[in-house]
Amino acid sequence: MSAALSIDTVKEQASRLTFRNQAFINGKYVPAASGKTFDCINPATGKAITQIAEGDKEDVDRAVKAARAVFEKGSWSRMAPTQRKKVLMRFASLIEKHTTELALLETLDMGKPIRDSSRIDVPLAAQAIGWYAEAIDKLYDEIAPTGPEAVSLIRREPVGVVAAVVPWNFPLLMASWKIGPALATGNSMIVKPAEQSPLTAIRIAELAAEAGIPEGVFNVVPGFGETAGQALGRHMDVDCVTFTGSTEVGKFFLRYAGESNMKQVSLECGGKSPNIIMADAPDLDAAATAAAWGIFFNQGEVCNAGSRLVVEESVKDRVLEKVMAVGKKLIPGDPLDPKTGLGAMVDKTQMERVLGYIEAGKKEGARLALGGSRVKTETGGYYIEPTVFDKVDNRMKIAQEEIFGPVLSTITFKDADEAVKIGNDTIYGLAAAIWTKDITKAFKVSQALRAGVVWVNCFDNGHISSPFGGFKQSGFGRDKSLHAMEKYSQLKATWIHIGA
Ligand code: NAD
Repeated sequence: MSAALSIDTVKEQASRLTFRNQAFINGKYVPAASGKTFDCINPATGKAITQIAEGDKEDVDRAVKAARAVFEKGSWSRMAPTQRKKVLMRFASLIEKHTTELALLETLDMGKPIRDSSRIDVPLAAQAIGWYAEAIDKLYDEIAPTGPEAVSLIRREPVGVVAAVVPWNFPLLMASWKIGPALATGNSMIVKPAEQSPLTAIRIAELAAEAGIPEGVFNVVPGFGETAGQALGRHMDVDCVTFTGSTEVGKFFLRYAGESNMKQVSLECGGKSPNIIMADAPDLDAAATAAAWGIFFNQGEVCNAGSRLVVEESVKDRVLEKVMAVGKKLIPGDPLDPKTGLGAMVDKTQMERVLGYIEAGKKEGARLALGGSRVKTETGGYYIEPTVFDKVDNRMKIAQEEIFGPVLSTITFKDADEAVKIGNDTIYGLAAAIWTKDITKAFKVSQALRAGVVWVNCFDNGHISSPFGGFKQSGFGRDKSLHAMEKYSQLKATWIHIGA
């Protein structure tokens, strides 16, 4: 979506949308078995867009049965990789072709700026699916070095029925990081989008069918976490759960697996990433600008947000001044306006949660340096202005807990050892960054930081070829890169006796 488009044009496009709002099971849109629906709310207005089928245990059961049946039949699971590639490439192209529509759905559903959903979320989702499609007919299996008396073939087989339970912050993109490798490796799957943001997952289901993915291979069951999500987690015929969401719910999935069929679980959970700026950063202004975007992008609703600015004491004032200058210009606006850089929080609950953390920060004695309030209340929407706390102690709640909003906590340090200590003093280990000109320091600090991704002299950069996921309570397993395929396949050794 071009920034040159006017808000009126975008609103006119939005007014022409139709909303798919049912579950997609075995190649067809169907209502929930119970007939129940729930409101899908636009967080920029607080008003309902449509009513979504409220999937529950029975719907999950139907989807799992369909997924299992087609998996056993082999029309997808045993399709030649080159053929699967063709179908998935078509699926990726169809997503790309519908960029405008899907971006509008994403923005209306969860409040992110249209310029982000159209330039980041949808194109990267199409890229992710296309990347795994292109990879699948280029991967070889192995033969073990056993000796001449036998041949042991080590082959990767699809796990079977995969359930992908995904969050609302990048609804289509987080789902696509799972859809790409899960389908490319030959599995059948059920996607359960977050109840706050089901529209794009539901819509792409018919694009999957149009691309030629056989009935039952790709299913979408919208519904609530405690019901539809739990039913997938506890299902005796789901082989693998791939989850992205909070650490708290990630732990539930471990329990569900333990109490049911010991299904494979991989977890991409929360974060409290330290963005460490040393006094010898190559460009302090660039570091400060990246720090601001590292927390304000996507309204701060980013798992790897640089929510802790860990900055060397001697340059703190200079860095903070620049961070705040960027924050002051980021006035929350209508997500459908192509000029908006900061949209609405996903829902009322999340907005209140973030405001609660801002109050906690003030009570704990941190200095509120910027923002701190709900704004644009007259719209009925859930907007929070960019917020910066100074003089934060790393033991404070706002430095320890994931806020998932545009709220930055600034903490100072005196030397690299102290920076690492503060950086690692968290239950999370998703991402971290270090800014320094000194290559030795950059390498030592990045090695010492316990995080799945460490950026040096940048923040939040990435590519589908580079793995993403956490250490510690940020989870385990990786999305993106060829490593993601490990989650959706299992090794089979076929030992062929030859004899002497
Ligand atoms: P959430 O954990 O509340 O929900 C995630 C998904 O789990 C949703 O589909 C939800 O319906 C489902 N769910 C909720 N409760 C459930 C239950 N009791 N049983 C089964 N399923 C349940 O997370 P959220 O609020 O949607 O997303 C924000 C969280 O996601 C943040 O913690 C963020 O850090 C994390 N996240 C992590 C990554 C990553 O790659 N590590 C990426 C994006 C978001």
